[in-house]
Amino acid sequence: MNRHLSPNLVPVAALAAAAVLSLPAAAQDMKFLRIGTGSISGVYFPVGGLIASAISHPPGASLCGQGGSCGVPGLVAVAQASRGSVANVRQIAAGRIESALVQADIAYFAVKGVGLFSGAKAVPGLRAIANLYPEAVHVVVRKKSRIRAIRDLRRKRVSLDLKGSGTRAIANLVLKEYGIDAKSLRQRNSQVGPAVDRLGAGSIDAFFFVGGFPAPSIARLARDVPLRLLPISGEPAAAIRKADPFLAPVIVPASVYDRMEETRTLAVGALWTVSDKVDADLVYGITRALWHPTSRLILDQGPPPVRRIRLKNALKGVAIPLHEGAQRFYREKGLMAKPTSKAEPVPKAKPQTPAKPAPKS
Ligand code: GLU
Repeated sequence: MNRHLSPNLVPVAALAAAAVLSLPAAAQDMKFLRIGTGSISGVYFPVGGLIASAISHPPGASLCGQGGSCGVPGLVAVAQASRGSVANVRQIAAGRIESALVQADIAYFAVKGVGLFSGAKAVPGLRAIANLYPEAVHVVVRKKSRIRAIRDLRRKRVSLDLKGSGTRAIANLVLKEYGIDAKSLRQRNSQVGPAVDRLGAGSIDAFFFVGGFPAPSIARLARDVPLRLLPISGEPAAAIRKADPFLAPVIVPASVYDRMEETRTLAVGALWTVSDKVDADLVYGITRALWHPTSRLILDQGPPPVRRIRLKNALKGVAIPLHEGAQRFYREKGLMAKPTSKAEPVPKAKPQTPAKPAPKS
């Protein structure tokens, strides 16, 4: 003991030393997980944020069952804004993020190496954790606009979203199947937030957004300005579904956005994905944390699409392999059969159940 230290200071110094000594151990126990989402005005961003809250459990957080979340001990997960599905998959491939929200079609194309992900651009290591909710193809115009159908978009000022978004990929497909050359449009491309503002201000005529419904930013505009969704149905819808079988018919009910009519369109599942490089025990832990009953309280704080996330839909429309850690969880829950061979089980690709059954037409 240093005799020059005043007796009062001794315990403080000892505590400080103990704290310093214990730091490396605590730091070693910390794990980080970055979740790529989309625009801060979209639906992915709040979904990713709420999932991050549900699965995190940094040292010192209130205990599970005592007011705290039931996340993975030592885990800090963060949601990052991004350009959307395509960019998210590329970021995972580059090792810049570990996990992301991705449209089911984009995830499949990435793993199979087709379309935007052909050849060397394939991302075979992308794995699923869960299907979350359906994302509807919104093509939004003002109700008083003379644009009543996709065909009327020719030469109009339209936002197809940015490159790297899943919205842009689907917008291009929709335009193609309706026989519209995207170059014939006066493109004013932006993410959903600025697109909503510009439609409200009258500086664009229409915008595409593929996302859960009601999307909060569109719902806000609908309260001020009557809006219309352009329908995607009939022959062109069938052709679109042939090119992208992950799109299923859906009806956006009249009640979803203020003063909007019921609209037939297409929807794709939103998947929570992760890199196959992430440790199986950690993925098991975050899968279990997502579906822990306590997480319901967290998800229910989000916009309506987040509130509809259910375990019974977790494997619907998942056509890429589930991460080994997620498989372990679903097997324990009896949602997946025990493996019979060494081959990686891929759940059967079924389209995401539409929010409402599509009428026969
Ligand atoms: N599905 C959209 C995309 O991949 C993003 C939707 C959202 O931000 O909620 O671009």
